[in-house]
Amino acid sequence: MKKFEPIRFEGVGGRRPLIIAGPCSAETEEQTLSTAHRLSACGFRIFRAGLWKPRTKPGCFEGVGEQGIGWLARVKRETGMYVATEVATREHVAAALAGGIDLVWIGARTTANPFAIQEVADALEGHDIPVLIKNPVSPDLELWIGAVERICNAGIRRIGVIHRGFTSVDKSLYRNPPMWSIPIELHRRMPGLPIFGDPSHIGGRRDLVAALSQEAMDIGYDGLIIESHCSPDEAWSDKDQQVTPEVLRGICEGLQIRESNDLTEDLSRMRSEIDELDDRLMELLSQRMEVSRRIGDYKKRHDMAILQSDRYRELLARRMAQGETLGMDPKFVLAVLSAIHEESVRQQMDEPGCR
Ligand code: PEP
Ligand code: MN
Repeated sequence: MKKFEPIRFEGVGGRRPLIIAGPCSAETEEQTLSTAHRLSACGFRIFRAGLWKPRTKPGCFEGVGEQGIGWLARVKRETGMYVATEVATREHVAAALAGGIDLVWIGARTTANPFAIQEVADALEGHDIPVLIKNPVSPDLELWIGAVERICNAGIRRIGVIHRGFTSVDKSLYRNPPMWSIPIELHRRMPGLPIFGDPSHIGGRRDLVAALSQEAMDIGYDGLIIESHCSPDEAWSDKDQQVTPEVLRGICEGLQIRESNDLTEDLSRMRSEIDELDDRLMELLSQRMEVSRRIGDYKKRHDMAILQSDRYRELLARRMAQGETLGMDPKFVLAVLSAIHEESVRQQMDEPGCR
C-alpha cells in the first residue's frame, strides 16, 4: 500500500495534538455559530459538526442535513476555522465537496459496513480531502483496516483513523470501552497512519474527557476529536458527553504532552495494557458478585445454608493449585480468594448496601 500523507492545515501549529472540536450535531444556525465563535475565541482552529446523524432508532433527531453546509460555510467565513463533518453516503460526500468542507470523517456504523464504505470511497475518488475513519462499532481490527484500504484505494492520501471505542454488552464505566490494544495493533500494522482519539464517544460522560484525552496523548496519538457545545445540557444528541468551549480549553491546556522516545512509548503501551486488564478485572468481579446474589436467592428458596464449607474448600484448593501453576505467590492468591469469598458470602446474605 502507498504511504499516507500527514494531515496538516495551513496556519494550524504542527505540534500534537491536532484538535478537532465542535458539537455532536449542528442543531440550529445560531447554536452552530455561537459554538464556533466561542471555540475560536478559545484558540481552536478546526470545527466539527454532524449534519447527518446515524441514530439507533427512528424518531430521534437525525441531523439538519444539507442546509447545515451553509452554516458551516458561515463558520469558515466568520471565524476562519476549518470545518469537518461526517459522511455516510455518496450524496453526503457530494454535498460536502461542493460546500467547501475541509475534512470529512466516516462514522463507526458506516465503517462496519463494507458496502457503505465502498460507496463513500467511490464518491471520494479523484478528490483531495483529508478523511478520518472511525473504528467500527465491533472490536474487529480487520474491518477497520479494510475500510482504510478502501479509502486508500480511492486515491485519498491524507487518511487518519479515529479511535472511538467499541460496543460492549458488559456493563462498563465507558459508553464504548476503549480496548486500547486494538488501535495499538493497528498502529503497528499501518505505521505512519495518524490516530485521533475520541474521548467523547469512548467515555460518554463529560467527566471522563480529560483523563481519556491524556491517555490518548500518553500512548502517542496525533490528535483528538472532542465534542463541544455552547450549551451542553441542552444538546439534541450526546448531551452527557459534551463540554463547553471554555471547559475544553481548560482540558487541553492541562494535557501533558510527553514527546515520545522508544522507552516512554513502550511504558505507555504497557500501562494501557494494565488499564485494560484492570477494566476487565473490575467487570468480571462485578459479574461474579451478580452470580453470587443469584446463588443466594436460590439457596434461600431451597432452604440451604449459605456457607457450604466443602464447596469452598474444594474451590480454594483448586485455585491455589492453579495459582502455583501460573507462578503466583500463594500468600497473594489466598488473600485475593479470601477477599472474594468473603464478599460473595456478604452478597448472598443480601446485607444492606450490597446491591
Ligand atoms: C459522532 O461523531 O457524533 C458520531 C456519530 O460518532 P460515532 O460514529 O463514533 O458513533
Ligand atoms: Mn456524537
